[in-house]
Amino acid sequence: MSDNRAPSYSSENSKGRTGLPDTRAAIDELSKVVKDIPEAVEIYLALGNLYRSQGEIERAAQIRNSLILRPGLAPETKARALYELGRDFSRGGFLDRAVNAFDKAREIVGDSPEILTELAEIAARSREFEKAASFYSDLAQPVQEAHYLARQAEDEFNEGEDAKAHRTLGKALKISPNSAEAWLLVLTRLKKEGSLEEFTARFKEALAQVPIKLRFVLIEGLLADSLVFGDTPIPKMDESQDRSFPFYKVMVEEIERSDSDVIMHYYGARLLQLCGREEEAGVWLEKTLMLNQNFWLARLELFRIAQTKQQLTPSFKNQLEFFVNIARKVQRFTCSSCGIKRDRIFFICPRCRSWHSITFRKELNQ
Ligand SMILES: [Zn+2]
Repeated sequence: MSDNRAPSYSSENSKGRTGLPDTRAAIDELSKVVKDIPEAVEIYLALGNLYRSQGEIERAAQIRNSLILRPGLAPETKARALYELGRDFSRGGFLDRAVNAFDKAREIVGDSPEILTELAEIAARSREFEKAASFYSDLAQPVQEAHYLARQAEDEFNEGEDAKAHRTLGKALKISPNSAEAWLLVLTRLKKEGSLEEFTARFKEALAQVPIKLRFVLIEGLLADSLVFGDTPIPKMDESQDRSFPFYKVMVEEIERSDSDVIMHYYGARLLQLCGREEEAGVWLEKTLMLNQNFWLARLELFRIAQTKQQLTPSFKNQLEFFVNIARKVQRFTCSSCGIKRDRIFFICPRCRSWHSITFRKELNQ
């Protein structure tokens, strides 16, 4: 491996390149001292993990290789070192080399869940969604499998292979009937095709299937209108899109019929607002506040509606609008695992990689 391949060294300019041979020599020395006893090997591998966590992929890899190349190494230890080497390469973005290391580890220990998970993530990063889904199938993780089948279906739709895409989506929903991603894609397609009747039936079904805490993702995704998984665009407030209105109308009706929580009431109001039905939207917002007094977004929208009815001086109006606009830009979604805040929906947390950990920030201190 040449020096310029390691992205890590850029952070070490202050130390200069002379530090490198010293570290190499130290790693080699340490490698000789580490005997083939489990505790010592663990410490040695942990040192590699430390380098990896600092982004020093080449040094981490060197540690693994010095173990791997040692004659007479216990096969399990070799597999461990290969696994860590694969993770080093994966973090460094050298995906081919990562797969190669994982495959070698697999030859020794077989399909361990850790290795399969790493391979699934690499397949997903390479946009090989079918392959990713297949790994998650081996791992018996239907939520993840359905996610990548939905992403595969999205690609198939984009390539004009609609029949194939529908089959893939059907498979996704069979594997995980409550997959928010698969339902969202089904509904987005029906809305795009203008199939109102089927949309209504499927929307009802989706509300019944998707876990309550994720239902808002369906509405948010449908409002965004174009589906890009992982980073759904912010909804375009294009009032001229009145071909969406019949869809919004049935969505409101179904939300009303279903067992709605505070967030779904808020979305009901939002849909009504988009259809220009401000009065009814106001009623829904009031209902939202009855369910949760601190639901800030409902307060903000009610305030905005009230504001339009007041006789205000231009200056006062200007000040109010300024604050309302700032408040509307507050990021509405947060990860329940790590707390990252986003203004777009996500299915895998962009920071901590948790699945379906997105929550709607009902209160501002969340
Ligand atoms: Zn997170």
